[in-house]
Amino acid sequence: MTTVVWFKRDLRTHDHAPLAAAAELGAPVIALYVVEDDYWNLPDSSDRQWGFVRDSLADLDRQLARADNRLTVLRGDMISVLKSLKRSHDIQRVFCHQETGGQWTFDRDKAVIGWCDEQQVEFREWNQFGVVRRLTDRDLWDRAWTDLMRRPVLPAPGHLPAPGTPVDGALAPKDIEVAAGAACPDPQAGGSGKGESLLKSFLERRCIGYQYNISSPNTAVTACSRLSPHIAYGSVSLRHIYQQAKAIGGHRNTLPRKQKSLTSFRSRLHWHCHFIQKLEDEPELEFRAMHREMEHLKSGPNDSERLQRWQEGQTGWPLVDACMRALNHTGWINFRMRAMLMAVASYQLWLHWRDPALHLARLFTDFEPGIHYSQTQMQSGLTGINALRIYNPVMQSQKLDPEGEFIRRWIPELAGLPAEMIHTPWLMTPAQKERFGGNTYIAPVCDHQQAARVARKAVGEFRRQHVSRSETERVLDRHGSRKGPVQNRPKHPERKTGKTSDSQLSLFD
Ligand SMILES: Cc1cc2nc3c(=O)[nH]c(=O)nc-3n(C[C@H](O)[C@H](O)[C@H](O)COP(=O)(O)OP(=O)(O)OC[C@H]3O[C@@H](n4cnc5c(N)ncnc54)[C@H](O)[C@@H]3O)c2cc1C
Repeated sequence: MTTVVWFKRDLRTHDHAPLAAAAELGAPVIALYVVEDDYWNLPDSSDRQWGFVRDSLADLDRQLARADNRLTVLRGDMISVLKSLKRSHDIQRVFCHQETGGQWTFDRDKAVIGWCDEQQVEFREWNQFGVVRRLTDRDLWDRAWTDLMRRPVLPAPGHLPAPGTPVDGALAPKDIEVAAGAACPDPQAGGSGKGESLLKSFLERRCIGYQYNISSPNTAVTACSRLSPHIAYGSVSLRHIYQQAKAIGGHRNTLPRKQKSLTSFRSRLHWHCHFIQKLEDEPELEFRAMHREMEHLKSGPNDSERLQRWQEGQTGWPLVDACMRALNHTGWINFRMRAMLMAVASYQLWLHWRDPALHLARLFTDFEPGIHYSQTQMQSGLTGINALRIYNPVMQSQKLDPEGEFIRRWIPELAGLPAEMIHTPWLMTPAQKERFGGNTYIAPVCDHQQAARVARKAVGEFRRQHVSRSETERVLDRHGSRKGPVQNRPKHPERKTGKTSDSQLSLFD
């Protein structure tokens, strides 16, 4: 009676309910990770994400060895792997965490559930985030999130009986390459051990002044927790992070400014699930504007030269280019700069959101579909319920990198420029260029102020002509935050009947 514990985006042994449940049964356990090539070939997957996963798998294997088991890594499609395990090890149960991913993982999970059902293999899944499947009322979500965060953190199992015979074809993750993508010269390392060290240093020292230091790309590198890929791939549990932050933030000996910083940090953990819930409720967000009537805001294909210049950090706007080059090199950039990159692509460059969203997804080591697709749409004005935020790349630069420290680091062409010229190198005279350099840096794609004005007008006109109140209310009702002032939300007729609405809500019925 072998149990398969199927690891996906939950690469740890602590606070892992499926593993704890399998351990309790006392029967042999195959701790399984499957490298699915079709997943790694998706347009939002990349080898830098795989690099982080690979580190985490090696760490997970060490954790399992402490419980007298090992990680089994196989390559292939999930159903073929399960069929083969059924033949070789007579698997009777598949335990895993619920995943809110893109359409591909939704379909894969449905197929696995169907196969288990057919084969009379017990399939059970647990919730690891405050994301509620088949949520009938957004007003109830907050309480569900808090309940989940307060539940006790589970210890790693002490003993997990290994299967009697080893699984054929098991691979060492370090030898596995996945489909290409731009290499990441300075990647963030994965694994629960690394994640725990980051959490410790953040809670002990780095969190002080969090809310003031997370916006500038100079200070954000250490002021932010940097836990995002660990949360995205589950090498550290969100609940564990939340409870640690709450315990320290709520301790009476903790300095008030540290308490405030940790309160602000905890609100980000809440946002994590708030955003993922949107994709859970409406999986189409991966492909289509949240506000359906905004879908046709941009008609025609993207200007390929503009897209390419943005992707290569060659727009001619120094902070934008520095951010893109930094992201390319390290796989991470802070929230404010992600928002600016996306907004510049959408407004000043007038690109359709999907190409930039996919490009950023591949560059982010911490790619998390629910947060990513909601945020990229939000920064492109496609939700219809958030204020239009058009960033001025020069003002952002003067405000967040006044001395040009970040720009000099990532744009060597501008390294010799004085601070007062570095934000607008195109305004330099030939004599200034002769003296300080900057001749090799590309001229801006367009006049950013003029382009922003045109974009604002175009969005305003589109909204006036094509956007109905009823669709805006639908979005607000379905996805709007319940924090802050009470909004005028219409009630869904479905709620009265307790019926669920379309798409993913019914996928697992
Ligand atoms: C266009 C765009 C795309 C984004 N794509 C992703 C993505 O693919 N994956 C991802 O994890 N985050 C994404 N974010 C949110 C945010 O920028 C990152 O979570 C954050 O920069 C990660 O760094 P950190 O862990 O040091 O954050 P911290 O500030 O230390 O925050 C702690 C955790 O809270 C959560 N969090 C923080 N900010 C947000 C936010 N605005 N929305 C939702 N959750 C948040 C994350 O899980 C994060 O790890 C995106 C933001 C934008 C504007």
